[in-house]
Amino acid sequence: MRVAIIGAGVAGLTTAKVLLAAGHEILVFDRTPDVGGVWSRTRRYPGLTTQSPKAQYSFTDFPMPRHLPEWPTGAQVQEYLESYVAEFGLEPSLRLAATVEAVVQDGDAWAVTTRSAAGTSTATFDRVVVANGVFCEPSVPEFPGRAEFAAVGGRLLAGSDFHDVDQALGRHVLVVGYGKSACDVTVPISKVAASTDVIARQLLWKVPRKIAGVVNFKMLLLTRMGEALFRYRWLRGFEKFLHGPGNRLRRALLNSLGTVSVRQFGLKRHDLVPGGRMEDIVKGAIGLATEGFFEGVAAGAIKVRRDQTITSLGERDGRPVAELADGSVLPADLVVCATGFTQGVPFLTESVQQRLFDERGNFLLYRQIQPLEVPGLYLNGYNSSFFSPLNAEMAALWIAADLAGALTLPDVATRRADVLGQLAFMDEATDTHHCRGTKIIPFSMRNVDEVLGDLGVQIPSRVRATHWLNPVAPAAYRALTPALLQRLAAPETAARVTL
Ligand SMILES: Cc1cc2nc3c(=O)[nH]c(=O)nc-3n(C[C@H](O)[C@H](O)[C@H](O)COP(=O)(O)OP(=O)(O)OC[C@H]3O[C@@H](n4cnc5c(N)ncnc54)[C@H](O)[C@@H]3O)c2cc1C
Repeated sequence: MRVAIIGAGVAGLTTAKVLLAAGHEILVFDRTPDVGGVWSRTRRYPGLTTQSPKAQYSFTDFPMPRHLPEWPTGAQVQEYLESYVAEFGLEPSLRLAATVEAVVQDGDAWAVTTRSAAGTSTATFDRVVVANGVFCEPSVPEFPGRAEFAAVGGRLLAGSDFHDVDQALGRHVLVVGYGKSACDVTVPISKVAASTDVIARQLLWKVPRKIAGVVNFKMLLLTRMGEALFRYRWLRGFEKFLHGPGNRLRRALLNSLGTVSVRQFGLKRHDLVPGGRMEDIVKGAIGLATEGFFEGVAAGAIKVRRDQTITSLGERDGRPVAELADGSVLPADLVVCATGFTQGVPFLTESVQQRLFDERGNFLLYRQIQPLEVPGLYLNGYNSSFFSPLNAEMAALWIAADLAGALTLPDVATRRADVLGQLAFMDEATDTHHCRGTKIIPFSMRNVDEVLGDLGVQIPSRVRATHWLNPVAPAAYRALTPALLQRLAAPETAARVTL
């Protein structure tokens, strides 16, 4: 089949690799001039690193180079993805600096219109995979007074548009947000700026990279045991104990992380202890502490304005300022907003979008991949996790199997019930912090298991068992792709694939 893939980030590239290997004709469109998505030079901010350690942020069959640090920089991840393109011969399939403007269903086919320097063109495909990234479009608040602020030289940028730390040199800088990106970008800014204030609407728990300075957080949270500490829709095996008789032990384990973090970062001294328990806060997002952030707070180079928001921007005595909810006015030459992202598919037609979303704007995707009633369309990367490359690669296998007609799925009503059940569960489990149904944290490996369950494949149970106490290793899944593709290619593969 001729397949269009929209996006050359982790999800688009792994989809391209799997579908090419399955014998399809692929074109991958990306509006940026380089591959990598989040890690593209057009989007990285100074201080950007992965949250996941390198072994967990790898494709199954393509490990990160040994010389890379445990938490690679944005530039290093982008280079890794460039080498993935070279290794698997994806270059000829790439159409970079080409923005997809419209995707229109025409019977069984799809017309994809792209705009590039050469002009606008439309091509027809049998299938479309949307891999446009759920953390791709920054969401920047509309502050009143922006025009007055800009008129006296004030600058407001999304974190992903802040590429050069020299823009902060000698300036008064406000960073809005308290998530991983906000803390990451604050540290290099604080080294050159005249002042650095972090405007934090809500404090969040930060997990140390090295718990108590010794144990890599992956040993605790990136294991199957770590995932099992959070109650999923269905409990299996040991999870029944953890959420039954072992409940106290489970909660103590999770909340002890909070205690360690308070002690390790001196949060009491800095009045930065978040409200609520670690167990509750950690649900929607496990924020890894940025190296140097709390050290910067202790040294006075970083000031966190807790429980505050910017109410307006403006000018005082010809200088740009920001007013906070408590009435204080801060000098603000530069405001960097690390305030999250919006998820959308603006190039799809109204009629497709109507079938894609629920009434609250959540994506309705079976296995986070397939719209319920839009044949021929798939989404990948809509399973954002702690192991995003692994989840995206497994989703690509699912797509390959479906293209081959090798998946036996339940009827639409059953799939709809499952999708709605999953959404209702995630609403409760994450206090609706699931980015319109696109984030599966903290249930990354449950998604992998469910996707592989549909395919009838799994890695050996003894290997899986090692992931209970050791970090999940995407490399353990490396045999699945070639084995599955071999099965799909075999003529006797009519229905279900089993390994
Ligand atoms: C700062 C940051 C750090 C992260 N760290 C981790 C981590 O440590 N571990 C982890 O598992 N996950 C992490 N993530 C999650 C991350 O989103 C995924 O790991 C992964 O990079 C997402 O890949 P993607 O391909 O789905 O999306 P993206 O990387 O966003 O790629 C989408 C691509 O689609 C392109 N595109 C969008 N619209 C169009 C259009 N109309 N036409 C053409 N092209 C288009 C974009 O230009 C982009 O290149 C992080 C995310 C962020 C923002």
